[in-house]
Amino acid sequence: MSHEISVREILAEDTENLWTKLPKTFLLKYDNGEVLETNYKTTIFTSYYWDLIREWPNIIVKPNHHLDFYFKKSPFGAHTHRVLIESFYKDIAVSYGLDTPLKRDYLDKRVFEVNNNAYNKLSVHLYPYMTSIDILDFIEVADDPEIKEMIEKCEPDQLSVSQLSENIVKFLYTTNKLSNNRLVKATRAKIVKDNQVSQCVGVRGYPTDVDSMLFKYPIMSGYVNGLNTLYDSMTESRSASKSLLFSTAPLQFSEYLSRRIQLMAMSVERMHYGDCGSNKYMDCLVTANEYDEFNNLIKKSNLPLMAGKYYLDEETNTLKVITGKETHLLNKWIKVRSIVAGCDHPDPHGVCSVCFGELSQNIQPGANVGHLCGSVLGQIISQLILSVKHHEKSADISYIKLNPRMNKFFYIDSARDKYYIQKETIDKGYYVEVPRDSLLNLNDVLNVKNLSYDDISRTAHIDDIALFKDSEYEIFHLRVENRYGILSKEFIEYIKQKEWLMNKKSNYVFDISDWDYRKPFIVLPKKHYNNNDLSKDIEALIQGSKTDNKKKNRTPKAAFWELFDLVNSRLDVNFAIIETIIYSSMVISNENYDARLPKANDPKELGVLKDIMARRSLSGQLAYQYVTKELTNPESFFPLFRENYVMDVYINPKETINKYYGI
Ligand SMILES: [Zn+2]
Repeated sequence: MSHEISVREILAEDTENLWTKLPKTFLLKYDNGEVLETNYKTTIFTSYYWDLIREWPNIIVKPNHHLDFYFKKSPFGAHTHRVLIESFYKDIAVSYGLDTPLKRDYLDKRVFEVNNNAYNKLSVHLYPYMTSIDILDFIEVADDPEIKEMIEKCEPDQLSVSQLSENIVKFLYTTNKLSNNRLVKATRAKIVKDNQVSQCVGVRGYPTDVDSMLFKYPIMSGYVNGLNTLYDSMTESRSASKSLLFSTAPLQFSEYLSRRIQLMAMSVERMHYGDCGSNKYMDCLVTANEYDEFNNLIKKSNLPLMAGKYYLDEETNTLKVITGKETHLLNKWIKVRSIVAGCDHPDPHGVCSVCFGELSQNIQPGANVGHLCGSVLGQIISQLILSVKHHEKSADISYIKLNPRMNKFFYIDSARDKYYIQKETIDKGYYVEVPRDSLLNLNDVLNVKNLSYDDISRTAHIDDIALFKDSEYEIFHLRVENRYGILSKEFIEYIKQKEWLMNKKSNYVFDISDWDYRKPFIVLPKKHYNNNDLSKDIEALIQGSKTDNKKKNRTPKAAFWELFDLVNSRLDVNFAIIETIIYSSMVISNENYDARLPKANDPKELGVLKDIMARRSLSGQLAYQYVTKELTNPESFFPLFRENYVMDVYINPKETINKYYGI
């Protein structure tokens, strides 16, 4: 019969004493009456973190506050201590009424200290148990017959290679054979990156060049077996070139983008805890994960990223917080409280914690809300660009997906990078219209005899095309991410014979009546969408342009979803953060030079970054750019709807400080 010890007895002891006092295994009695068998190892580890409970003892200590609880679900890893702290952090906050970050400031400080103490003490106590990893661990995995077989079976094409990498990772997580291998242990504990392990023991896959073009053949060997052909070494060496390149201009670009976002977003200064009572909601469709026919995830659900937002439960007419696990909301429209839809808090530079969502609990006292959100986004993008080498994996390129409307006119090949025209479309007598700028040197096809296909394809840049006949006119978007279409070799041969017309918009018009529907029409080049492309696209959206906003009829809500989808096609950035950035780019009226942040009942429009900076406060403008232009612009000195800005104190110190103290 094991010895029974109560949680409170453990809490009464200093953890250092437990090393000699606890029996090897024993029964632990929790505050809620549960008695579970445990051992001295996990209990001592837990006890270091229970220093927080020693300081805030009025919570009911339950089995989920003990390390054993997490061991049942996953092995010890880099996040274990964090989940453990989280398990009682909330209970402490609730029991002691610490419902704002300001009230939790001391608790947060103690979390830091307790964690640091555990780290220091455990490093010393656990020294005899430390192990290291060496090449033998790697060789054991690479030599495993099952892995060898997977590699042998793998074909040198996109789909097989990416499938191989997934299968190897899956194997490492589930096999019983290699459970004592230290590489496998490290993988399971998430101390090393899955894709890097699979590149060591599996194959390197597709490298990309500095311009993001995929090399034609994958590297079918991994780092353990070595890259031993000239082709392998030379193509692989481009990842170092890429790394060098990305650390210069692309990094400068993303850091400057980050700075511009922060300057704009800083107008959203304060968080007010409580409910402003706004009755404005954003209608959101909660999407589920989308898979293609090969069961690859093509678009992830937006639900986990909505965590912390409040939505209106229409049955009970109450606000409920989204935790990210509400599967009953999938594919449903919900009403979300939102600062883009409108917060009603009277502070012109503040938002309330209900419109913002529970993420408000993570904003440290005194932090500028907009600046924080802007830097969170900017930091993630810069980090991705800076560590391009570490995120390097076999390049996966995005491929064509046809929606039902497009399916009527086109079909695609199994590699999903070529468009074919449906026979029916040709039979019905449609013409193809391609914008002139998409095919700049098409005339050369006729004039120069030996022009190679590569020469033509290099300058082709097809984004949209149109099919028309009589009064019907259909526009199709053929570009996929950064992969612009090019006319196929076969189609170029065809139009050499058939020629073409220019219409009054100076676009090319092709007669396809004699076109063979079995031949590819438009081809997408094998190009990888990299993180620099992502930051360029984000810039275009955030900077905004009047013509673009008008052309696309972009409302603030539409811009929000555009940015949300764009950013989260690659990253995981919470709803509230994207929302704050879009909110800071909203104005009351572009026409009336009113760039103030709109509140719940104000008209709302999407502004353009450079006008917003010039119209809000000159102090912000001076920290931005075009300084001479705005200082010599007479409009700058007619105040109109100017608002305060956090940097005003540098321009008008006396007035700003007097106003702050109400003098
Ligand atoms: Zn509000």
